[in-house]
Amino acid sequence: MVELKTVGEIEAMREAGRVVAAALAAARDAAAVGVTPRELDAVAAAVIADAGARPAFLGYRPEWAPTPFPGVLCVSVNDAVVHGIPSGDPLGDGDLVSIDCGAYLDGWCGDSAISFVVGTANPRDLRLVADTDEALARGIAAARPGGRLGDIGSAIGSFARSRGHGLLADHGGHGIGRAMHEDPDVPNESRPGRGMRLRPGLVLAIEPMLIHGSRGHRPDAGDDDYRHDPDGWTLRTLSGARAAHSEHTVAITEDGPVVLTAA
Ligand code: MG
Ligand code: MG
Repeated sequence: MVELKTVGEIEAMREAGRVVAAALAAARDAAAVGVTPRELDAVAAAVIADAGARPAFLGYRPEWAPTPFPGVLCVSVNDAVVHGIPSGDPLGDGDLVSIDCGAYLDGWCGDSAISFVVGTANPRDLRLVADTDEALARGIAAARPGGRLGDIGSAIGSFARSRGHGLLADHGGHGIGRAMHEDPDVPNESRPGRGMRLRPGLVLAIEPMLIHGSRGHRPDAGDDDYRHDPDGWTLRTLSGARAAHSEHTVAITEDGPVVLTAA
């Protein structure tokens, strides 16, 4: 069931979103060659605790997961797309890092993700990150009252494909509110003018996950295909190509989309 939020509830979600933005910014600032994802996780955990908020990922266990998630952040490096468990392996020069963070404050959830490169960047990776951010911006711009849910996936998907990128199969955004994952599902590729009508009060996590097209070690694998690590969580490209992820929690208002997880 899709639940619309009041103006006051959206304001409360903005406060949760601020905490998530601050945690991501602190983790981003701490990220460098030689720093471990587990250290970034601790940085984000401290920001969330200081704000009186509660991490949304820690202990989260959807029905498909073999174990509760053990981190505050998802840290997905290089060919890991999303859901990476923060490891103790130091980041290497040129690693492409995606960090995803969720937190609850006063019963409301925020969810956001950023991608970046540590050390000496390969220009191709910078282009993938910039295109993922642009795909997110286009998806957000399409989240307007009077539009349709499919407009968002059309904006994201058509841009990503026009740039030659893959899009992680079977994964997209979601409604968000008192729970991190609410209805509706928000596909990253769809047809414009289709799906539910977008109305003020609808709050969505919009999150493109882009993959370098035809850049992997396995030419037999499709650009969108993935596999899970033995940990049951970390989701990697089947081709071995690198991926980037960018996400904001966005409220649809009478005046258009408002990003609740902006810094
Ligand atoms: Mg997220
Ligand atoms: Mg999300």
